[in-house]
Amino acid sequence: MVARMAKVNGVLGPIDTADLGFTLMHEHLVVANWSMRVAFPSWVDVKAEVAHAVEEVRAAKARGVRTIVDLTPINLGRDVHVLREVAERAGVNVIAATGLYWTEEPWIEGWEPDRLVDTLVRDVTDGIQGTTAKAGVVKAATDKLGVTELNRKLLTVAARLHRATGVPLSTHTDAHNGSGLAQQDVFEGEGVDLSRVVIGHCGDTEDIAYLEKILARGSFIGLDRFGLDFVLPMEKRVATIVELCRRGHTDRLVLSHDACCHIDWVPKAMIPVLAPRWNFRHIPDDVLPALRAAGVTEEEIRTMTVVNPRRVFERQGAY
Ligand SMILES: [Zn+2]
Repeated sequence: MVARMAKVNGVLGPIDTADLGFTLMHEHLVVANWSMRVAFPSWVDVKAEVAHAVEEVRAAKARGVRTIVDLTPINLGRDVHVLREVAERAGVNVIAATGLYWTEEPWIEGWEPDRLVDTLVRDVTDGIQGTTAKAGVVKAATDKLGVTELNRKLLTVAARLHRATGVPLSTHTDAHNGSGLAQQDVFEGEGVDLSRVVIGHCGDTEDIAYLEKILARGSFIGLDRFGLDFVLPMEKRVATIVELCRRGHTDRLVLSHDACCHIDWVPKAMIPVLAPRWNFRHIPDDVLPALRAAGVTEEEIRTMTVVNPRRVFERQGAY
């Protein structure tokens, strides 16, 4: 293999993949509905939420985190101005995504896949929201409805965006309805090399057989919802990683929280009650010590937190 310098699109400009360091592969700085933001200017106090996100990212940085991949899709309120300001003030790399969420919005029905691709590709080629910040990853999502007709179209769009640009694909799934495998089917049908794909939210299940089916097809999997203990407690998520490492899958695992510094889906006061450790500090503070205590080595931890994220982004544009 020929060694070569690879770059990934960060919100403040290209980043050498060698400089990614400890990377949280699936997080969100601010999730706030665009329509509601426009209709009700007080829907989100952007200034206050940016300040809060800066604090959270700085706390992660103090624990060794160097890069945060913000996988907020366009229609969950991805705001590149927020991402850029947080990246700048916190001194951490932030990578933004392009792509749409799984929710079946009526406008999407009338759009042919390639017309959507032609629009969204500009996030990667030109920049997002009129800035020079280019998307570094394509987000795709499938949830409780599974791969419906509309979802198949969105997965097709994501696959074509990936093939057109070379930036990796990273997904949201419902780990309990096999949607990770169903996504792989659609991606494969579009000619995607599945080793360029991170199938997300795999940590929500303890079904090792399901995870090994995804892994056998060459994709990375995201153990990426640490802190959502009400979905699956940390101890069970950790046990799944320990078993996957024991079975030799360490080089295909990436870690994250899917945490949101701000999210408008539930009243603000509910989040600390529902998920008190759902923040960017939980992996360094609690998860890594638990993995070490269970016998996972420093080298394996480095593989999951530093080496694998770099691998995901390294082959960008390698077609
Ligand atoms: Zn997410």
